[in-house]
Amino acid sequence: MPKLHLITYGCQMNEYDSERVAGLLGDERYELTESPDDADLILLNTCAIREKAEEKVFSRLGQLKSLKRERPKVLIGVMGCMAQLWKGKIQERAPHVDLVFGSAAVARVGEMVARARATGAAVIETGEAPLIKLTARPERPGQLKAFVTVMEGCEKFCTFCVVPVTRGRERSHPPAAIIAEIRDLAAAGVREVTLLGQTVNAYGRDLTPPTDLADLLEQINEIDGVDRIRFTTSNPYNLTSRLMQAIRDVPKVVEYLHLPLQSGSDRVLERMNRGYTRARYLELVDELVGTVPGIALSTDLIVGFPGESGADFEETVTAVERVRYDNVFAFRYSRRPGTPAADMADQVPDETKAQRNTRLLEVAERVGAERRRALEGRVMPVLVDGRSRKDPGEVTGRTRCNRVVNFDAHGRELLGRTVPVLVTRALPHSLRGELAGAGAGERVLAAAAV
Ligand code: SAM
Repeated sequence: MPKLHLITYGCQMNEYDSERVAGLLGDERYELTESPDDADLILLNTCAIREKAEEKVFSRLGQLKSLKRERPKVLIGVMGCMAQLWKGKIQERAPHVDLVFGSAAVARVGEMVARARATGAAVIETGEAPLIKLTARPERPGQLKAFVTVMEGCEKFCTFCVVPVTRGRERSHPPAAIIAEIRDLAAAGVREVTLLGQTVNAYGRDLTPPTDLADLLEQINEIDGVDRIRFTTSNPYNLTSRLMQAIRDVPKVVEYLHLPLQSGSDRVLERMNRGYTRARYLELVDELVGTVPGIALSTDLIVGFPGESGADFEETVTAVERVRYDNVFAFRYSRRPGTPAADMADQVPDETKAQRNTRLLEVAERVGAERRRALEGRVMPVLVDGRSRKDPGEVTGRTRCNRVVNFDAHGRELLGRTVPVLVTRALPHSLRGELAGAGAGERVLAAAAV
């Protein structure tokens, strides 16, 4: 059987696409291999969101050059966002690449690989294609969690972002196709699904008849076997009271929301074309916290966006302190080709970006640690999803709010089960817990939102 070595960079959507590619090529009798050395086909599923992500890919392609020289029959392909952004230019820097294709062409991966092999000529497929719900995936016995893409593309046109170029306009998959996919996953043992979309809370408005994410969540809630539903990424611009109520009322939807703020300064938000102000974002957060008690929030922030002054940056810091996020993903602004911000005159020096990034992470870490410490002494439902590598008696799982908890299973087989756990200690990146005994049920219910 021919062997496929698949390397995935970037977001969860890329992980999802990689699973589809592995499944489709599995149908063509390719089997996955961990090592590039015995592979017949090496595919890099790439990310173009920041320059650093691209450099990683080019450096990996550089490493693969000697392998291609030694074994010229190995096919090397670049797929995903860099393929879509750079198209045939990829080969200017890496002439040993045989195959370049964007996410719209994933459905035809088998045919493209066969063509590259048969002709020996480079295949480049980066055009648009009709939206297809691909569900092929490799067998993953024991898989408890899965991503499910519910919509593709983005048309917000934030001035820093390449996604509208790399992933095209917003298109939602029909609910019936999503439900069918999740039913299959549940039948295969999956207990938690994460719905994916660049602006997932804009789901459904392009469909005929139009629908929305709240409605989709209610439908997924009815699927037997699924215990938890997550979704990401939400855009504040599309966040509705109806969705907040769904997070509160649909039992399997967890009390956790990733809501990118990007900047705490109105001046910067406007130049980013985010479509909301700091006050509007904070108003949404207050409504969320009022509607869904105990909800945990995380966010994305960019430091050093063109023109960001020290005072603008301080507004981002105070926003973190005000919202009290569980988790903050901070990024240094990276100039992306073809985006309006790349041409803005007042670019911020790298050194300033680095200083701001460090300071922001310090503040975010302090706030996050305070949030974690507040959980000590509480009992929470934990979905057990793995065994500790260090101690086979220990298991690891997540609370509904996505916090990692490690605890002793006392010899019980808990994988895939949701059990009450008493949090005994908050550590820097996780919680320590103890399996809570009988009688913990009431406290579990009270703590279900944590
Ligand atoms: N679609 C989502 C949104 O707009 O909120 C997020 C998608 S993006 C894949 C993930 C994060 O990368 C963004 O939220 C943003 O913080 C960051 N990002 C995007 N473009 C960037 C750039 N040019 N430089 C630095 N960070 C960037």
